[in-house]
Amino acid sequence: MTTSINLITPPGELLELIESARRPLLIAHIAPDGDAIGSLLAAGILLHYLGKEPLLACQDRVPVTLRFLPFQDQIKSDVRDFDPDVVIAVDSSDPSRMGAIYDPDRFYQAPLVVIDHHVTNVHFGDINWVEPSCCAAAEMIYYLMRALDVTPTKELASCLLTGLVTDTRGFRTANTTARVVGIASKLMEAGAPLNRITENALNSRSYDLISLWGRVLGTVQRDGGIISVSNERAMREDLNGIIRADGVVSFILGAYAAKVAVVLTELPEGKIECSFRARPGSDVATIALQLGGGGHPLASGCTVEGTLPDVRQQVFALLRETNAWAE
Ligand code: 5GP
Ligand code: MN
Repeated sequence: MTTSINLITPPGELLELIESARRPLLIAHIAPDGDAIGSLLAAGILLHYLGKEPLLACQDRVPVTLRFLPFQDQIKSDVRDFDPDVVIAVDSSDPSRMGAIYDPDRFYQAPLVVIDHHVTNVHFGDINWVEPSCCAAAEMIYYLMRALDVTPTKELASCLLTGLVTDTRGFRTANTTARVVGIASKLMEAGAPLNRITENALNSRSYDLISLWGRVLGTVQRDGGIISVSNERAMREDLNGIIRADGVVSFILGAYAAKVAVVLTELPEGKIECSFRARPGSDVATIALQLGGGGHPLASGCTVEGTLPDVRQQVFALLRETNAWAE
């Protein structure tokens, strides 16, 4: 029996623009995750298949855990020689997420298209296709592919499945619908290796990262329903340039008493990056937006000027204001 998937249709003007484009510039967000890279590569393969000459760009390097993906070595961090006729930002909720890649003075003639699934998206494009009901930007690229009547190759399917797997943490988040699992099944039928993707993108980490987890977890504290840890610069001096304790925020949210999890990371330039997770019923998109960031109701983030103790105080005060349980 073949099951049919209830598809979402991209806006007609987006399809027309893509069909007429010749040299699209595709941009994934800074500090890219599996959905950013997976969506970027999938969109690139799709547009290449349609006879375009896309350039794929991201300000920051592809994480080691995603370097198994096809064509990831073709992602550029310098686009100075490229003259695009359309710019497409994926998985990015505001213009700052495109980092140094997007230069409005250079690209003003090329329409900017936004393809994103963040509820906090500020609609910064000329065409904005924003679907907060989608679990990943990769889910949207799947609908785009179907609307363009393209059958996925193994490579395209693998990139899309990587986006789904990483943004749903292995099909475990609250937005993992039957439709998402149905799409994943179709991608596996097209040759995408679910187990290999999961092992690489979710279950692999460096020894340095595990060491950092150990130190960061040493700071854990619980204040009512808020569970938090700090990741200070001094904790990482011998860890070969590693900065973020990737994955720790979801892990600490597992505490029985936790409603919200917070990781405060002191960045090299002194700013503080805040990473938030919430259990269903609470919301962390609002606080991230209030602090200049964005994300989803259950997973969000922002970067704030200030010292770690000051930012901690600010974050906790806002969480207590917006959530009665936080007292
Ligand atoms: P993470 O904690 O994994 O870094 O981020 C969780 C979610 O929040 C992701 O969906 C990510 O896109 C979003 N997010 C994290 N940091 C920022 C930020 O500084 N600005 C915006 N707009 N979104 C962010
Ligand atoms: Mn995403």
